[in-house]
Amino acid sequence: MKLLLWPALLALSLPGNGLGAALSTGLEDDARTVLSYGPRVAGSPAGEQARLYLEAQFRALGYQTRREAFTYPRFDDLGSEVRAGHQVLRGYALQNSAGGEVTALSVRVPGVGSAANYVGLDVRGKVAVVSRGQTTFLQKVRAAAEAGAAGVVIVNSAAGELRGTLGEQAELPVLGVSSDVGAALTDGLPLTLSVRVRRGEVQGVNLVAFKAGLTGPDLLLGGHLDSVLGAPGANDNLSGSLAVLEVARRVANTPLSARSFFALFDGEEDGLRGSRAFVKANAPSLERLKAMFNFDMVGVAAQPLTLGGDAKLTGVAQRVSSAAVNDAAPGGSDHVPFAEAGVPTLFFHRGLDANYHQPGDSLLDLELVRGTVDTALSIAAEVLSPAVAR
Ligand SMILES: [Zn+2]
Repeated sequence: MKLLLWPALLALSLPGNGLGAALSTGLEDDARTVLSYGPRVAGSPAGEQARLYLEAQFRALGYQTRREAFTYPRFDDLGSEVRAGHQVLRGYALQNSAGGEVTALSVRVPGVGSAANYVGLDVRGKVAVVSRGQTTFLQKVRAAAEAGAAGVVIVNSAAGELRGTLGEQAELPVLGVSSDVGAALTDGLPLTLSVRVRRGEVQGVNLVAFKAGLTGPDLLLGGHLDSVLGAPGANDNLSGSLAVLEVARRVANTPLSARSFFALFDGEEDGLRGSRAFVKANAPSLERLKAMFNFDMVGVAAQPLTLGGDAKLTGVAQRVSSAAVNDAAPGGSDHVPFAEAGVPTLFFHRGLDANYHQPGDSLLDLELVRGTVDTALSIAAEVLSPAVAR
């Protein structure tokens, strides 16, 4: 009966996008399908394909879905470098850098690259190589531009890569490099500075699923669906997105489904954009919330499942589950805007994965996702029982 009904529901509820999202046979199917679309960067076609697929699964389970769009500015480094001879040296475009390619001689600028350091120096049409420190990145770039430089490389004075923001739009291409790369950029070296950037307005879309008629949920289960450029985002955070879908699947025919919102946030990787937009747009309907559960990176066993957040919720978690409890207020993910709005939150996380934000983030252990769902359901049952007041 159900099998006969589903295609009919889908035909009614799916927008005419021609993608024809198929019905899932379960988590394995979900993971394979969504990962086949590629990195789900906010605003990308792959992100939208993933959303359409998951939207279809929620609807097939009898949920209504709603899309909430929001926009924000974003600067992307599409892959920048400096080439000297046959050496290709990696660097990162500073945020608000101009894009472009400059082939010219390098000039090592003494000091920290302030205006006084350019007196008697010929950088006209050349690439100024300056050290980090003392003055702002923007001040260094402005001093180089005034002296006539065609591009700027800023060399880290500390360990590691140099990433940062100029704060304001620069007219020159500006690359940040590690001190190792900086050491290779000697004075008078012919080089090509290649800064590939894209800037524009991104439209993010949150997807919310709920049973018909529910406006003030008692529980909200959420996770971000977007991933960073170049990373498949299997653990970060298809794992959390699928945990949300799996809870929806497991409770579809129980009273819990009629008391819960299921949210897949967009733009988390660009600074919690989706969850912030959601909290702002839905403030009145969050008043009843007894808990917001956020699932982020729950599919790779970097650590055992760790729960952090509201003291009452972590107390319940300790009583009804074997998950570890992290007493420090966790940050950095979509529960934060809810916690700031006064909603009790619980963050489900398995620690940083070695493939975090890398092309290798393609591994996902679905048993860990199922275990996370089991834990979430036992805590939810306790939190929503009449005996537990908010
Ligand atoms: Zn994440």
